[in-house]
Amino acid sequence: MAIAGQAGWTALRPPGDLELAAQVRRYALTELPGRTVTAGADPDRTALARIAARFPTAEETFGRAALLALTRRPAPGVCGFCRATVTAAALSEPAPAPTSPALQALLGRPCRRCQERQRTSEHVAAVRAACRVEQRLLDEPDVPALAARIGYWGELLDLPGAIKGAAIADALRPRRRWPTGRITSVGGRR
Ligand SMILES: [Zn+2]
Repeated sequence: MAIAGQAGWTALRPPGDLELAAQVRRYALTELPGRTVTAGADPDRTALARIAARFPTAEETFGRAALLALTRRPAPGVCGFCRATVTAAALSEPAPAPTSPALQALLGRPCRRCQERQRTSEHVAAVRAACRVEQRLLDEPDVPALAARIGYWGELLDLPGAIKGAAIADALRPRRRWPTGRITSVGGRR
């Protein structure tokens, strides 16, 4: 594979996302800071244009916020994803996901706060999806609140469809009555 070491090899075969991330990171941290920005020019636009000239697919692969985060000055306790999150907010773009291997190759390891933020946003998204399922069921004419709530938990806990369906069908069935003594002896008091 002698060709792999030759200049121009990247033009022959497009690099994978991880490889591209490593190349862009190296460029942004070593060569880019040495380039001067014309007086009056927007430094962010200049940086993005220079990255795009060298790596045409970088922006669509990683997003502008992640690329610009590489051009921001590092600070103690602030990881690449912290900087990308701030930049994304300024651009009104979604924050880059710290779980993406390609973005980790570009921005480095996410700090604990960014990992926590990711878990929180995933949780919020899951609760929203579960609420939508519950609301859809509540919008049906004959679905009781209990069945809709089962739909909510089934979605949130990611239960298999068959189990969700059976639980909702149970909730839709008319109430069964057991001898009261049997329930208290099995379930105890709550
Ligand atoms: Zn961080």
